[in-house]
This record gives sequence, structure tokens and C-alpha cells, in this order.
Amino acid sequence: MLDRPTTRDGWLARAAALKIEGRAFIGGAYVAAADGATFAKVSPIDGKVFAHVADCGAPDIDRAVHSARKSFESGVWRDADPAKKKKVLLRFAELVREHGEELALLETLDVGKPIANALGVDVPFCANCIQYYAEFADKLVDEVAPVGPNDVAMVRKEPLGVVGAIVPWNYPLIIAAWKLGPALVAGNSVVLKPAEQSPLGALLLGRLGKEAGLPDGVLNVVPGFGEKAGRPLALHPDVDMIAFTGSTEVGKLMLVYAGQSNMKRVALECGGKSPHVVMPDADLDAAASAIAWGVYYNQGETCHAGSRVLAHASIREALVEKIAAVQKAEIPLGHPFDAGAQLGALIEERHMERVLGYIDLGVSEGARIAHGGKRALAETGGFYVEPTILDGASNAMRIAQEEIFGPVVVVIPFASEAEAIRLANDTIYGLAAAVWTRDMNAAHRLSRAIRAGTVWVNTFDRSSLATPFGGFKQSGFGRDRSPHAIDKYMDFKTIWTAYK
Ligand code: NAD
Repeated sequence: MLDRPTTRDGWLARAAALKIEGRAFIGGAYVAAADGATFAKVSPIDGKVFAHVADCGAPDIDRAVHSARKSFESGVWRDADPAKKKKVLLRFAELVREHGEELALLETLDVGKPIANALGVDVPFCANCIQYYAEFADKLVDEVAPVGPNDVAMVRKEPLGVVGAIVPWNYPLIIAAWKLGPALVAGNSVVLKPAEQSPLGALLLGRLGKEAGLPDGVLNVVPGFGEKAGRPLALHPDVDMIAFTGSTEVGKLMLVYAGQSNMKRVALECGGKSPHVVMPDADLDAAASAIAWGVYYNQGETCHAGSRVLAHASIREALVEKIAAVQKAEIPLGHPFDAGAQLGALIEERHMERVLGYIDLGVSEGARIAHGGKRALAETGGFYVEPTILDGASNAMRIAQEEIFGPVVVVIPFASEAEAIRLANDTIYGLAAAVWTRDMNAAHRLSRAIRAGTVWVNTFDRSSLATPFGGFKQSGFGRDRSPHAIDKYMDFKTIWTAYK
């Protein structure tokens, strides 16, 4: 194995040597789109085309669904010995680790995140998730219901069949694994539709799954655009479930598509505008550090980013200064292949313009730029935005209500605990929140009152595969991670036998 590069040039040379596969993975083999169409993949790092990807549409989706259905009905995976399932999935996780550098490079080229984070977080989290669910293969037990002495009522959990997984571009490997792990261990066959902005890691996962021993057709990966590939998957009459992560707007369409087609199951992990509530007695250094990391990590392109800071009026000014200081000292913006860069490029030029537009909007709504606020590293041709603080905002402003999905934190003052709760809940979203206080009574009151799938107390973004992740309200329903995620991919069947 070659030593890991330590410089930008070293990584660029390694990237140039990659053999990138852009074709769909269907039925255990790479195939071009039925009509041969491809689209150019631009890297957010420098704005240059670095790969061509199959531009799949309805015929390709149909082929992948057919292949998944065939594998499911054959029972080759569904009915496989649990010990074998475990072995295959554990090997899959191991292969992800073994191909870690290649996967990390693809992730950085596709998404623009720092290579150190792709290597240190995205790849191991993806592998760990597949491993976590692999361990359930021989531990999923059914129930016998208490129905009296002359009957046996078994409650069996059965896989749903064909699962369509539609995922976003911000953590392509991790979110794919959140779907694949539980869906596969439950015995389903899967058609994965990665985001058009970030298909390459997912396409490699298809091959690694096969190498690990997944039978052909059990894992298919079909790249393409939302309308052209995602829509026919979600509308497909032979798909039993759509597991979706993405925006609330598109998540709502999944419900429509399910209703217009076969009433397939839908699980939704959608947007967020997560609040930090910083009480006057909070440890401000700890809060500032967690706020800065929580909103600038991954360029702020994180669904649960703590992008709305509700700060008690007495500490707001000090907190803003500390957040800026943490960013300057610990979270430098830089070229994703530079050592030390913690904040890379935004996914697309269009998205960068959108984020800059929100900063302008914030100013016109009456907020003040306390930090950052401009495009950066324009000379690279890439799409970078300075880590930004918009201070003196109000919760009614659009910058406080809409998901900016960039390195921008909005700071809003409050005067009382009751007001903080009201503001925290004054949003259509409910993905996550954090409460900062030394008073454990207040911590309990606030964490109970805030409507969100996760509430952190005196910390932020600590996570484990053992805890469910997902949202309340328009952040979606159904949970990724934890044993509960497996149930989503299974149906209950009662088998009732009477005997004498
Ligand atoms: P998006 O909704 O635009 O796209 C998500 C996926 O849906 C992509 O694969 C896309 O191609 C597909 N899609 C788009 N239109 C479609 C259509 N009409 N029919 C079928 N599929 C379609 O979201 P995005 O911009 O890729 O990702 C950012 C969003 O994802 C943010 O809102 C973020 O909060 C959310 N997100 C949520 C979580 C979570 O766990 N709750 C995690 C990560 C990202």
C-alpha cells in the first residue's frame, strides 16, 4: 500500500490516478444507462469536470427494481442462513475499510469536504454502521403471543421486499449505510439512488457488496437526477418501501408518489433548523465550541446543524465573540486536500449562491454580519463561503426559519426560559436541539419541552449507532440508526394455529 499523501499535490496526484466508475450497478454488474446518456460530474473543489456518470431514468430504474425483485423472490438473500448473512455483511464493512482511501477520495471530489474528515469520519462511520447491523443477523427473534392454551399465535417479522433508498449529497456514504445496514440485515433487496451531486462512493459500494458475497440483484445502485431517476423509483409499483433522506420539500413528494402508486411504505429523514438554547448560567466556552463545530463542520451542510442559536440577552455578545474565536483557532476554511483544512467547499455553485443569498437576505432583514459573510478561495474555481455569524436576528426572519444548509449561524436573543422554549419550537422542523445550562432542573424542563428527535444537554452532535436519529414535525418520521431502524424494513405477520 502506498503511504498516505500529506500535501495537496500528493492528494491531487492520487485523485488523478483513480479509475472512476460512473456506470449504474444493476444485477451484480456495472451497466451504462439504457439510452447511453451520461452527465458530467463537477467537483466543488475547483469547479472542474472530473467524471462522467450514467444519467439513469425510468428504464434503468425498472431494470434495477426487476433485478431486486427477482433476487428477493428467489430467497437467495431473504432466506439465507443468518450466520451467512452476518458473515457477508461483516465482510462488506471490512471491504469499506480496506477501500477507505479510495472511498474518501471519491467523497471529497464529489462533495468538497476535507479529505481528513472523509477518511476519519465518513468512511469509518459507513463501515461501522454496516458492521453494527451485521451483528443483528442472528439475533432477530420473533414472538409468540399469549393467546391461551389451545392456540399458538406466532408474530413473525418479515422483510418488506424491494426497498428504494433515495439519499442526499451531504454525507453520501454514511446515509447510504444508515439505509443499507438495516434494510439488508432484515432480508430485503435494495435499489439505492444516490444524489446526482454525489454518486461515486455509492457506486463503489455496489461492487464491494458483491465482493463481500451479496447475491446479484440484492444491492443495486442507480445514479441519476431526482425527477428522472428518483421519481420513477418512488412511483414504481413493485417497490415496497421508500427510505428517503433529503429536503422536506422532496420528502413530501414521496408521500404523494406513494399515494399515487401502490401505497408503499415511506420513511422520511428531512430538513432541520436546530436550535441551541444558551441559558445565562451556561458554560460559554463549551457552548461556543460546540456551536462552532456543530454549524461549521461539513461546511454546515448537515441536516441537524445547530444553525439557530437562541442566546440569553445577557450573554449573547460574549457568546458571539467566542464562536468566532473558536472558528478562527480550530476550524480553518481551506482546500479540502490541504492538511489542517476543517471546512471545505459547498456542494455546487448554485448552492454557494443560495447560501450567499441568505447572508444578503439576513442583512436586509435587519441582522448584522458579526463574522465572515463572503465567498472565499474564488481563485481555486471552487465554491467556498466564509464561516459566518448573523447576529441580532429575530426568529420571525426567513434566515431563522429556512434551512440555509451552509456555514451560517443565526443568533437570536431571548429574555426568559419560557420565551426560549417558545422560540425553540417556533419552527416547522424538529430534528435536533441543544440546551446549555448548569441548572439541571432547567435542563430537564427544556429538554422535555422542546419538540425534537434529539435534545443534547451541555453537548452537541454526540452520536452513537445505538441511538435512534430522526425528526419530529416536518423533519420527518421513522428513525435511522439503533435497533428500531430494522423494524422499519419489516412487516409483522401473525401465524395462528389452533390445536387440540
Ligand atoms: P433533496 O431533497 O434535493 O434530494 C435528496 C434526494 O432526493 C436526491 O437523491 C435527489 O436526487 C432526490 N430527489 C430530488 N427530487 C426528487 C423527486 N422529485 N423525486 C424523487 N427523488 C428526488 O435534498 P439534498 O439537497 O440532496 O440534501 C439536502 C437536504 O437533505 C437538506 O434539507 C437536509 O436537511 C436533508 N438531510 C436530512 C437528513 C436527516 O437525517 N434528517 C440527513 C441529511 C440531509
